[in-house]
This record gives sequence, structure tokens and C-alpha cells, in this order.
Amino acid sequence: MTTTIADLTRPEFEERIRNRVLVIPIGSIEQHGPHLPIGTDSHITTALIEELCRLRGDRLLLAPPLPFAASDEHSSFQGTFSMGTNLLASLLKVLTTNDPIQSRTLFVSAHGGNLPAFLTASQPFWIPRTHVLVEAAAQWELPADARGIWEPDAHAGRTETSVMLALRPDLVHLNQAVHGYNGSLSSVGSILASDGIRGVSSSGVLGDPAGANREEGLAILAALAADLVRTFDQVSQ
Ligand SMILES: [Zn+2]
Repeated sequence: MTTTIADLTRPEFEERIRNRVLVIPIGSIEQHGPHLPIGTDSHITTALIEELCRLRGDRLLLAPPLPFAASDEHSSFQGTFSMGTNLLASLLKVLTTNDPIQSRTLFVSAHGGNLPAFLTASQPFWIPRTHVLVEAAAQWELPADARGIWEPDAHAGRTETSVMLALRPDLVHLNQAVHGYNGSLSSVGSILASDGIRGVSSSGVLGDPAGANREEGLAILAALAADLVRTFDQVSQ
């Protein structure tokens, strides 16, 4: 059974943190085109954490989720609330360095734009590789095997639409869906870095939601959850 730290007394926390990993979910509120909710990445993060808790709940303590994060690449669109990379990086550092017992901590986020802050914080983290590529390709050299299979489909495209159809179909407005930039992201890295997503896609979409379906979303979620559990197992050893 999963323990949320907000429910513990200090002695209980001190006793339980000794042999568990503290998991801190990092959400995101940012535009996801005209058809997906702005909390899409938070919904996905929450679902993956629930699966992690179901499978490894006795080996972790769960912190409350941070609702906002770094989404500057979307800030020219309404519906985006970004604290920026520097502030997020500082916040993550404070969260871990103020911890007197130096517990093992794992940050978890379905939003790839948090990668630069995560790298700065020097703590274990998990982000879907599929997102890592796109939203951070402009700033970070990624190994070839980290180049995701859904590269051109990184934001509010078929992948995220399928996942949301699996999680919260009531929040998906398929009749509003439009395609966005469909080309290679590595070729427009400098535009993404200087002008954000709007520089290549006026709809705010990277990819094409056409063909998205629930079954595909369930399969993607299962793959992401398995990857998250693998990372957790490495951190908790
Ligand atoms: Zn997203």
C-alpha cells in the first residue's frame, strides 16, 4: 500500500523514509492544441504514478505533485503556466538539499520540457523518452538511442491523443483536432529554441492526432509504466 507523506507524522516519516524512495510527481499545465486539455501531461503523470504505486507502493513514499513546471516553449500560447527552467531547477534543488536525511528521491514527469531542470538538479528522474527528444532537442545532445520512435509526434499528436483517449476520453475533443508540424524536429531545433513551438506550428501541435485510438493509448501507457518501474527499481536498489 502506498503512503503519501502528507498523512505521516514526523516520526512516522523518519522511520519509513529509511528504506523507501521518495517519489515527487512533477506536473505541467501547458497548451496541448485545440483538442486536448492543458493538464494532459499532469494526467499522464498521475496515471503512471498510480501504476507505479500499485506495483511498488510498499517501497516508496509519495509526495504531493508539483502542479506547474517548465513550459517556456509553449508560453506564446494561452493556457500555459510556466515557471521556467531556472526556477524549476532551483526548486528541485531546494526540495532535495533541505532534506536532512538525504533520502533517495525520484522525480517523475510526463513533460519532456522539464529535462533541462532535471539534469541540473542532479537527482534521479524519469521522463518519457518520446518527449525528451522533442522538447529538449534544441538544448541537449542526446544519445542516438534516445531518439524516440514518435519523434515528429511529440506534442498533442497521435501519441498523446491516444493516451488521453485511454485515460480521459471525456476530455478529448476529436472534432477540434488539427495536425501540426509533421517534419523532423532535429531540423528545426534552432527555431524551437528561439521561437518555441509557435515557430513551427501555429496550432501548437507537433504531429498529427489523426488515427489516435484508445487501444494504442493503452499500449503506450503500458510501455511507459514499465519503463518507469524499471527506473524506480534501479533507484531503489
Ligand atoms: Zn504533453
